[in-house]
Amino acid sequence: MFQWMTKFIDKVGSPDLDWIQVEVTSHCNAACIYCPQPLLGEKQHMPLSLFKQLFPYLGYTCLVYLQGWGEPLLNRDLFAMIKMCKAKGKRVGFTTNGMLLDEETVRRLVDLDLDILSVSLAGTSRSTHNRIRKGTDLAKIITNLDRLRQIKAQKRALRPALHLAYLMLSTNFHELPEVTGLAKRLGAEQIVCSNLALIPQEALRQEALFNRRDKQHHFISVLEEIAGDARRENLLFNYSSPVLQERSERCSENICYSCVVSVKGEVSPCVFTSPTLSQTAGINCDKAMNRIFQNRQAPLYPLSFGNIGTENLTRIWNKKEYLQFKRFHDPETKKGDMDTFPRPRSCVNCYKYFKV
Ligand code: SF4
Repeated sequence: MFQWMTKFIDKVGSPDLDWIQVEVTSHCNAACIYCPQPLLGEKQHMPLSLFKQLFPYLGYTCLVYLQGWGEPLLNRDLFAMIKMCKAKGKRVGFTTNGMLLDEETVRRLVDLDLDILSVSLAGTSRSTHNRIRKGTDLAKIITNLDRLRQIKAQKRALRPALHLAYLMLSTNFHELPEVTGLAKRLGAEQIVCSNLALIPQEALRQEALFNRRDKQHHFISVLEEIAGDARRENLLFNYSSPVLQERSERCSENICYSCVVSVKGEVSPCVFTSPTLSQTAGINCDKAMNRIFQNRQAPLYPLSFGNIGTENLTRIWNKKEYLQFKRFHDPETKKGDMDTFPRPRSCVNCYKYFKV
C-alpha cells in the first residue's frame, strides 16, 4: 500500500518532457580547440547502476539523448543503456566524433535500432576539420560513415538516422556550402549548424560568427543559399542565427520540457549549467569555470536541482527552486511576473538569451 501510494504521488506532477539528455561519460578521445572538456580535471563514465535509477522516469519522455561533455562510445555500457531504453519503447540518440565507429560498433548500433546518430564536424576538408577537432580525422570519419551506409543497406535498416552536426566558426564557415554534398553522399537525413555559444577563452572570441559583425550579411546569405540547396536535396537543414538577436527575456533552449543529467547524476536545466564543467569547484558553488561573454571573462556557474542517485526525478522537477527557474524561462510567464524573480546567475552571461 505504501509503495503504491509513493508511486501514485510520484506520478502527480511528473515531468512531461520532450527529451532527457544523459551524460554517459565525461571522457573524450579528442581535444577540440573550442571545447572546455579537455580542461576538466576528473573524468568518469556514468555507471550502469546510476543510469538505471532513471528507469522509473523514462515514461515521462519520448527521447533519451545519451550525450554530455564527452564521447559516448567510450563508455562500454553505452550499448546496454541503448538496449534498456529501446526495451522501454524510447527513441534513443547520441552525438559522436565518429572516430570509434568501427564495423563491429556500427553493426551493434544498427542491430539495437538506435534512432539518431549525430556526427560532429567542424569543416568539410580534412585540414580544417582536423585542425579544429584535434584528435579526430575527417578521412577516417567518412570511411566509418560510408560503412554505416553500407551496413544499413545490407540489413535493410532505416535507422540510425544520420545527422551531421556542424559547428560554425569564422575559420570553417567557407567550407559550409560543401556540407549538403557530403550529407547526400553519406546518406544523412539532417544537418544541424550551431554557433560557438560557449566561448571558453579569449583567443576564440572571433571564432563565434556573432562576434564577426563585419561579415554578418555574408553569413546570412550563405546560410539561406545552403538551406535552398538542402531543400532541393530533401535534407533537413537547421541552423542557429549567426547574428545576435535582440536580448530576449528568456533562454532559447527548451528549459521547461527537457533536462540534463550529468555523469554523476546531477539534474540541470542545460549543458552549460552542468556541474561537470565545474566539478572541482563543487555544485552550486561560488567558484566556477570562466567563459568569454561580451569581451570579458564571466563565471560559468554550475546549477543542480538534485541528484538521481539519491532523489526521485519527479521531486527534483517539482522543487521550489526548479519550478521558479522554469517559470522564469517559460514563454507563458508574463513579463510583470518575471520581474519578481532575479535573473538566475547561471544565465546572466549566456548567449542563449540572444537566440544564437
Ligand atoms: S540561459 Fe541559462 S538555462 Fe539557458 S542555456 Fe544559458 S545557462 Fe542554460
